Amino acid sequence: MKKRYLLSGLLILCWLFSFPVAGLAKEPALVINDKVVKTDVSPQIIDGRMMIPLRVVSESLGAKVNWLNQEKTVTIEANQKTLKLKVNTKIAYVNDQSLTIDAPPKLIQNRTFVPLRFIGENLDSDVIWDQEKYQAIIKAREEKIDNSYLPTPNEENTNSEEPSSEEPNPENQVQNPRVLTKAEYQENEDQTIINLWVESGQHKVTELTNPDRLVIDLSDTSKGVDGEATVNTKHVSTMRVGQFTPTTTRVVLELKGKVSYQLNQSANLLNVVLVPKTTSDNSSSQQPGEGYVHRVINDNNIIVVDAGHGGKDSGGVGISGRYEKDITLPTALKLKTALESRGFQVEMTRSDDTFLELMDIVNITNRVNPFAFVSIHANKAGNPSVTGVETYTFYGTDHTLADLVQSSIISKTQQVDRKVKEAGFVVIKYTQVPSILVETGFISNQGEEDFLFDPNNQTQIAEAIAEGVAKFKEIQNKTLTSIP
Ligand SMILES: [Zn+2]
Repeated sequence: MKKRYLLSGLLILCWLFSFPVAGLAKEPALVINDKVVKTDVSPQIIDGRMMIPLRVVSESLGAKVNWLNQEKTVTIEANQKTLKLKVNTKIAYVNDQSLTIDAPPKLIQNRTFVPLRFIGENLDSDVIWDQEKYQAIIKAREEKIDNSYLPTPNEENTNSEEPSSEEPNPENQVQNPRVLTKAEYQENEDQTIINLWVESGQHKVTELTNPDRLVIDLSDTSKGVDGEATVNTKHVSTMRVGQFTPTTTRVVLELKGKVSYQLNQSANLLNVVLVPKTTSDNSSSQQPGEGYVHRVINDNNIIVVDAGHGGKDSGGVGISGRYEKDITLPTALKLKTALESRGFQVEMTRSDDTFLELMDIVNITNRVNPFAFVSIHANKAGNPSVTGVETYTFYGTDHTLADLVQSSIISKTQQVDRKVKEAGFVVIKYTQVPSILVETGFISNQGEEDFLFDPNNQTQIAEAIAEGVAKFKEIQNKTLTSIP
């Protein structure tokens, strides 16, 4: 599966608080991308360093902020970076790399203040101090913010039912309960996934034609990301984010053709999954609209193993030009051996280099009706330094099988743990039994590509998956015997 993240380099936005600045003496001002940002508590100058309230980081810089009160630690995530700082501690972390900062975070009147320069620069902005005006100026380094690309209300409104009385006025922003803090995308062979990081709430989706667009309006939301990004997946060419009305953030997906879409909402994430609109799918008998959340527990010893891709579908192409399908098949065959040695009966979706439609894999699995389904894949990222294992399970389903397999692989191979994740991939969505898709590593990274092509490592991964599956089967057996 190919995966790319939309760099949230377009994160910086302006946010005007309605609070008055309760200032007496001269207070430092904060200018973010040419707009004065007013904060409910003023920035502070401590030891010659400007400190800003943590809230500004999430609300004006659009980063994802997490504060651990007990540890007095703050984690800031944006632009694929994670910054970790601790109150009164001069050691900070950028993506787990430690470094010394001269201005540690401070607690002032129960508010957390963080060093502006350190944070701004690590979120890909330039930070300039203007002594004369007594203000700090923060400017996104990637000058990609271009409002002329943003949908004008008239353009987008022609076919939609958006009330025209609601005049858009992005300058007159109100404080909405929700903020869209990040917009990113992910692609695999059959779908484009748009991740909109926003707390759960109301949204409306409108399909527009000429050109084909999908418009997602988030109610009571302010944008924490801004601008236009080239997405260029199978289904989407660009993604734009704009403040359509003071209370509505609008996300426009410029489509390359007709798509079917599905929205999945969790606490902090609205997930838009786009798949091609096909007519042939109607003939496929087993296609429940929403996928199975509750999975059948089968009292048998049969497991279906799927080697991802095959035949005309090479899967991802590795950094040295080798194919994903040439990892998935030998690894899946080794998994078959490892499972059989543990007494399981294994049905392969394919045992040679042939191509199967995704719904064929689903149909095979639902016909065999095993106790579990495992699909083997290798991952790909735009950034060649990304490595690690991730195991996917369908949205809202039980994580037990995924957790056991993921932790088993990590402890055996010592690869980077990219954790268990949920997704709407066809092969884990429409299968009726507990199903996982294992991304065994990144072929876009030279070291991990070499690792994954090594037969000994394939055996290690296969053994680890089999061990995880065996543990899962034990748990299933206990569940089955406890049912009266
Ligand atoms: Zn794949």
